[in-house]
Parts: sequence; structure tokens; C-alpha cells
Amino acid sequence: MSAYQLVWFKRDLRVVDHRALATAAQLGPVIPLYVAEPEWWRGKDMSARQWAFVEESLVELRQALAARGQPLVVRVGAVTDVFDDIAKTHPIAGLWSHEETGNGWSYARDRRVALWARERGVAWHEPPQHGVIRKLKNRNGWAKKWDALMGEGVTPPPHALPAIEHLAPGAIPTAKDLGLRDDPCPGRQAGGRMLGEDCLRTFLFQRGEAYRAAMASPIEGFTACSRLSPHLAWGTLSMREVAQATWARQRSLKAAPRGRTGGWRGSMTSFSGRLHWRDHFTQKLEDQPALETKHLHPAYEGVRPTEADPARLGAWANGETGLPFVDACMRSLKATGWLNFRMRAMLMAVSSYHLWLDWRAPGEHLAQLFTDYEPGIHWPQVQMQSGTTGINTVRIYNPVKQGYDQDPDGVFIRRWVPELATVPKVLVHEPWRWDGASTVLGRTYPHPIVDHLAAAKEARQKVWAVRGNKTFRHKANAIQHKHGSRKSGIKMRGQRSTVKETNTERATLV
Ligand SMILES: Cc1cc2nc3c(=O)[nH]c(=O)nc-3n(C[C@H](O)[C@H](O)[C@H](O)COP(=O)(O)OP(=O)(O)OC[C@H]3O[C@@H](n4cnc5c(N)ncnc54)[C@H](O)[C@@H]3O)c2cc1C
Repeated sequence: MSAYQLVWFKRDLRVVDHRALATAAQLGPVIPLYVAEPEWWRGKDMSARQWAFVEESLVELRQALAARGQPLVVRVGAVTDVFDDIAKTHPIAGLWSHEETGNGWSYARDRRVALWARERGVAWHEPPQHGVIRKLKNRNGWAKKWDALMGEGVTPPPHALPAIEHLAPGAIPTAKDLGLRDDPCPGRQAGGRMLGEDCLRTFLFQRGEAYRAAMASPIEGFTACSRLSPHLAWGTLSMREVAQATWARQRSLKAAPRGRTGGWRGSMTSFSGRLHWRDHFTQKLEDQPALETKHLHPAYEGVRPTEADPARLGAWANGETGLPFVDACMRSLKATGWLNFRMRAMLMAVSSYHLWLDWRAPGEHLAQLFTDYEPGIHWPQVQMQSGTTGINTVRIYNPVKQGYDQDPDGVFIRRWVPELATVPKVLVHEPWRWDGASTVLGRTYPHPIVDHLAAAKEARQKVWAVRGNKTFRHKANAIQHKHGSRKSGIKMRGQRSTVKETNTERATLV
């Protein structure tokens, strides 16, 4: 019996730029495997909409592999059980998968896999697929390393894969098969590499000009933003492919006469910065997996009640806070699986400041609603927008002002909060100011759950009381040293480190 290279697909559902697959294929016959793990999928941060995207991507991946000679093998169960089962008939010479910076569950599962591999004498090879560096010693020079990693050649797929005998491909399970709750999401982005390639091409050459100006708008953002997030999260496209295509586009724009490029240059500069951010944030979770469950700055532990007030959490989660713009954002997210950055940040801030909820339960709720859920971005962002990192500017978004700024005519609100149809246009952001408010509020739409100005003021005082603590700054400096962007205040070697409470971490990275 020949021995096989087992290529375990995780968040890398493609054959292009798949180093694990390409390298394994040079060593011998490959079993390309995806394991649908019900226990993982039933976690509090996972959902059927995410699975639906993965399911569609698996169909295409299976075809791409079949075209090379061996279709994707799909199994349902615990990964190590599946490996053992396959090994009974197909001895495993090597295990291949990309490094993953996942949630606590997948981290623990990877440790079980490592043990499994050690006990059976199987070498587990884990090449990185992003710019995240495992066992990073410190952040100095991180951005340069990222540029170098993303500049490496895109790995072509293997030309041919020998067909494996006596190994059934297996059915791709449905969300129901995995025991997932119903999760209707009519506006969800569909999965699969072909749509990912299309998304990248239309963004770089057709849609992207308005990116810089329109990304914060919940309406225009739908087309002006790249919408690549689920493709990057589930790996139908690699980060390297996206970065290199963006750089090529930037070079051609640079070569074109300035007056001819409209908003393109600025938009592409903003976009390519965001690609750095992705891995910059993921690096934080890689370096400190506890970030998913513990406050980054310990001074915030216990400041908000750990048990979320169910009435407040429920109103926020269901888009029934009585704050029209907040509710419109939450309902739009439920129906589409996507929201732009500014609105995600605002939803999180309202939950953490105005409603004074601990970030963990709201963070899980948002994770479930995001088709693009990526733990490495999500949890550091959740903490950042909740003001618990100790190193970022505390940003308490005013949900009414955000509405006026981003949805001046109330079009977005009217679309998602039809209960407000009779409210005059000028007051749709603040229906409580309308003379006829009593015909709607408390009847078809709730009164505001809080006085948002008073709640924000109170939250600011509480947060600053924590920051005023003597030991706060000392710990914050240590956090900045470990996780901070080198442009956001920390001095380089030989200089004194200080925390500079600016928002530059959002804006730039070294
Ligand atoms: C509370 C909160 C939770 C978030 N959770 C997720 C998540 O689970 N998955 C996810 O992909 N993004 C998350 N983001 C970041 C950001 O909102 C999304 O990446 C973006 O809205 C996705 O749309 P896009 O692909 O059109 O983005 P674009 O603006 O076109 O950006 C392109 C890519 O750059 C990366 N990126 C963009 N903005 C950021 C950012 N601020 N931080 C890190 N990376 C960024 C993403 O990979 C994104 O796909 C979160 C933001 C907040 C405030």
C-alpha cells in the first residue's frame, strides 16, 4: 500500500496559491480533505449563513480538484476520528494544512491534532498563508515582513493529482445535517472562488473609485467597498493574490496621467492599507488567543456587569432599541450578512457604551451575523470598539449624528425600519421629537431604550475613571509594546515607550 499525503483544507478553500497542496503534491499521492466539524459549527460565534458560504465554496473546490484528477473528500465528524478512519485504508505519510489563527475551539482542536500527529509519527506541516507570523518575538519591522511575505510568488495549483482508489468523496453536508439553527439571510454573498475573482476584478477596475469617499456610507458602501471579506475569511482567494492584484493596479494608476485617474489612486491607497490591517489585527489574536474571552487591559474586567442585561441585549440584537439608525444597521446586517466598518464599529460602541453591556455576548451575536466572521479581526476589533484595549482612542459614536452624517435623507432607515414610514423625513432619525410620535412610539416601534446623550456621558465618565487609575498607564504601555502598530505611539529600540492615545492605529500601520 502506498502512503498518502493528507491535505486538510480549513480556511483556504482554493487550489491557487495553496502552498500546502502544491508542496504535498510533489511528494506523493494526495488526499484532499475537508472535515465539517459539527461541534465547531454549533459554537456561539458560528452560524448557518457562514456554513452556506463554505458549502458553496466546497462545491467549486471539489470541481477544481476533480479537474486535476482527484475530487475533494468530505467527511463530517471530529477531525482526528476522520484521520484515523482514513488511515485504516490509506496510510498517511504526512499531514498538510495552512496555519490558522482561529477561535478558542479551533485552537484547542489544533492542539489535539498536533498530539494525534505526534502519537502516530505523522509529520504535520503548516505553512503560513497570510502575513501573520507565528511565535513572533516582537512587532518591530512587522509591516516590512508583511510586504515581503505578500510579495512572494503566487503558488500555481498542481497540474494533476492521481486519483485515489477506494475512497468515496462523500456528500457535502447541509446546515441542517450539521444541526445548525435556521438562519435566513436573503442578501448574503454567495461563496465560491469564481465569485471571489469577480469581486476582486470589479472592485479594482469598476467599483473601487468611490471607495475612499463612500466606504462609511451604509448605502453606497455595499458597492463601493470591496466586499472581499468572506472570500478572504474562508480563503477562496488568498491574501497574496489580492495584495498583488492591488499593487499591480496601483502601479498602472501611477503610470497614468494624474488628471485621468479620478478618485482611483486615493481609493487604492486606502484599500491597500486595509489589507495590512487585516493581518495586523489577526496577529494580535495569534499572539494572545485569550483576547477572545479576556479583556486586553485587565483594568476593565468587571467594570461592566459580566452577565448582560437580557432586555438591553435582546433589544440591541433584534434591532429594537428605538434608535432608528442603530436598528436599521442591525436589521440590514441580519438580512445581508455584511456591514461596513463604520457601522460595525458603531453597533459595538452602542452596545458597550450606551447600553453598558460587556462585549462578549454582543461580540458573539455579531460574529454569527457576519458571513465573513474572522476571529483574528473580530475579537481585537470588538475589544477596540468597546474601549477595553487600553491603547486605542475611546470612540463613543453618537448614533443619531452618525445617522444624519451617513444617511442624511433617512433612506437607509426607511428601508430597514418600515415602522417609521409615517414620520416626516426631517425627524426620521429622532422620531421622539415629532408631534405625532405617540402614534408610532410604544405602538409599532419602541421608545428609545436609553437617552443616548446622557448614556454616552455616563459611560465616558466611567471609562475615564478606569483610565485615571495609577497603574493603568503602566500596563497600557506593555500592551502597546506587544500589540500596537509602530506608528501609534511606541518609540523604537532605545527610546522610552509611551502610550499615545490617538486613533492612528486605525489610520496607518508601519
Ligand atoms: C466590531 C467589528 C468586528 C469586525 N469583524 C470582522 C470579521 O469578523 N471579519 C472581517 O473580515 N472583518 C471584520 N471587521 C472589519 C471590517 O469591518 C470588515 O473587514 C469590512 O467591513 C469587510 O468589508 P470589505 O471586505 O468590503 O472591506 P474593505 O473595506 O474593502 O477592506 C478589504 C479587506 O481589508 C480588511 N479590513 C478592512 N477593514 C479592516 C479593519 N478595520 N480591520 C481589519 N481588517 C480590515 C478585511 O479583510 C477586508 O475584507 C470588523 C470590524 C468591527 C468594527
